[in-house]
Amino acid sequence: MSQGCDKEAACVTSPPHLQWERRRAKAAFFGRLGGVSTGPYSSLNLSSAVGDQPRQVAENWSRVRGTLSRQGELALLQQVHGATVWPITRNSAREKLRGDAMVANEAGVALGILTADCVPVLMLDADAGVIGALHSGWRGTLANIAHAGVDAMVNLGARPARIEVAIGPAIGKCCYEVDARLGAQVVAVAPPDARAISGGRPGKAMLDLPAVVGAQLVAAGVAPEAITTAGRCTRCASMLYFSRRAAGGGITGLQLSFIELVE
Ligand SMILES: [Zn+2]
Repeated sequence: MSQGCDKEAACVTSPPHLQWERRRAKAAFFGRLGGVSTGPYSSLNLSSAVGDQPRQVAENWSRVRGTLSRQGELALLQQVHGATVWPITRNSAREKLRGDAMVANEAGVALGILTADCVPVLMLDADAGVIGALHSGWRGTLANIAHAGVDAMVNLGARPARIEVAIGPAIGKCCYEVDARLGAQVVAVAPPDARAISGGRPGKAMLDLPAVVGAQLVAAGVAPEAITTAGRCTRCASMLYFSRRAAGGGITGLQLSFIELVE
């Protein structure tokens, strides 16, 4: 994983924040720096559904598109925190389907996920030429969208044991306080070795979503050593990343994670 910038105070441009360099794929995690949006959307907000000005969102998109290959067609979803996975082709890339994960096996198809604390996951089986992208917040984690994403890649010819994964910047266990009841629900569905929660204040628990998602991927057949975790806690590093928690649950922009299969 190569860093575009790791000095948060000094870094004002140079997106993407992190690039995942792999054979047959272009993949990157953007943060919030390097765009033109202002206020809570400052500055590289890429969502047109959070109240930002369309002209500024469009300018931000023009800045990140250069990271794709020239023929790259980027698919985005109407993300709904479910567990629906879509196979995407060049023909369907612009449909903006309702769901939270995508897989593809066609060069030039890029899969994009927008987040602000949820766990973005990029996946690649370079031998099979199959990619996947998903996001897993607490709802998606309860629904085990990570496992569904691996299964959908297998349907396109991937083998779990060959899949490499990059888990991107997400809220960490340091900051993700949830009701103890929700913590218990996640523990109930998480793989036994996931270390899903740690203690919190009375009635609360600190949830480690990236760890649970990683354990779900391993339970789906991905090798533990094939999983890379990149970036910092979005809330702790809210100068670098959009974080809904850092915004007090209020208005914020969304950052892009994407993977594209290349020839
Ligand atoms: Zn944190």
